[in-house]
Amino acid sequence: MSPIQAVVGAITQYQTGSAALARIQEALRLPAEPATGPVELPGPGTAPAALTFEDVRFRYADDLPYVHHGVTFSVPARGMTAFVGPSGAGKTTVFSLIERFYDPGSGVITLDGRDLAEWELSRLRAAIGYVEQDAPVLSGSLRENLLLGSPGADEDTVTRVLKTTRLDGLVSRMPDGLDTLVGHRGTKLSGGERQRVAIARALLRRPRLLLLDEATSQLDAVNEAALRDTVADVARTTTVLVVAHRLSTVTMADRIVVMDAGRVRAVGTHRELVTTDPLYAELAATQFLATAG
Ligand code: ADP
Ligand code: MG
Repeated sequence: MSPIQAVVGAITQYQTGSAALARIQEALRLPAEPATGPVELPGPGTAPAALTFEDVRFRYADDLPYVHHGVTFSVPARGMTAFVGPSGAGKTTVFSLIERFYDPGSGVITLDGRDLAEWELSRLRAAIGYVEQDAPVLSGSLRENLLLGSPGADEDTVTRVLKTTRLDGLVSRMPDGLDTLVGHRGTKLSGGERQRVAIARALLRRPRLLLLDEATSQLDAVNEAALRDTVADVARTTTVLVVAHRLSTVTMADRIVVMDAGRVRAVGTHRELVTTDPLYAELAATQFLATAG
């Protein structure tokens, strides 16, 4: 062996050795609970979160008008709260503030009695499942779309979530089941199916609080019923907030927060509000169809 070969050999050996050592060190650092362990659906073991807004004022920029002029409401753990009101009332902004995409100018938002500002941002966002209004479905397989935020979810959990979101029938009809390609931005799925895929994706992350900005697209009766039943199911074990555009969603809410021009007008059930709040009665009469936004 030439001296050069010997040196090269030693370096290779050293590198192999250090790589192996690194792997061992990595293995020793593994958390006690591997990230790929069983993922449970939100249940009694994963406490649903309570939320309050206390006199929240907010504007998107100093040179823009206020969007929230002292918004106050409280949501207990578990159950469904629907936000309704005309376009521009500030409903989606409520969700943006809960996610801390922005912080309020004044007032306080609490989760489980603690100021949002005190939460570690990653822990806060891990506790929240946010299903946006036009929930994206990416290209790739249905499975890839579902496991986006929870790659370690096991088959049983996926099966349960598919049942909860009423996607099990769809999956069994697809040629390759979960491995069926759903096409660019999910164009092979209907609007209602896309939103249920997004809900399933959020549920696989076991959120303590589910924020759902209801899709404004018209849904056929089957999809509308599926979405309504899904939300009702999830609300049994999780705190669910819905920006609602459909009467069918609103009527089954445990409480409805009626917003208008950055203020909370009224809070109550559908039966209470149809007689006490004229704006609500009007929105309900038009099936909320004019409130998209
Ligand atoms: P809603 O969901 O009830 O229709 P939003 O919360 O989306 O209402 O919007 C409330 C107001 O805030 C609207 O006037 C809207 O134009 C404004 N707004 C929303 N998002 C932004 C943003 N990112 N930057 C500036 N203004 C915004
Ligand atoms: Mg909106």
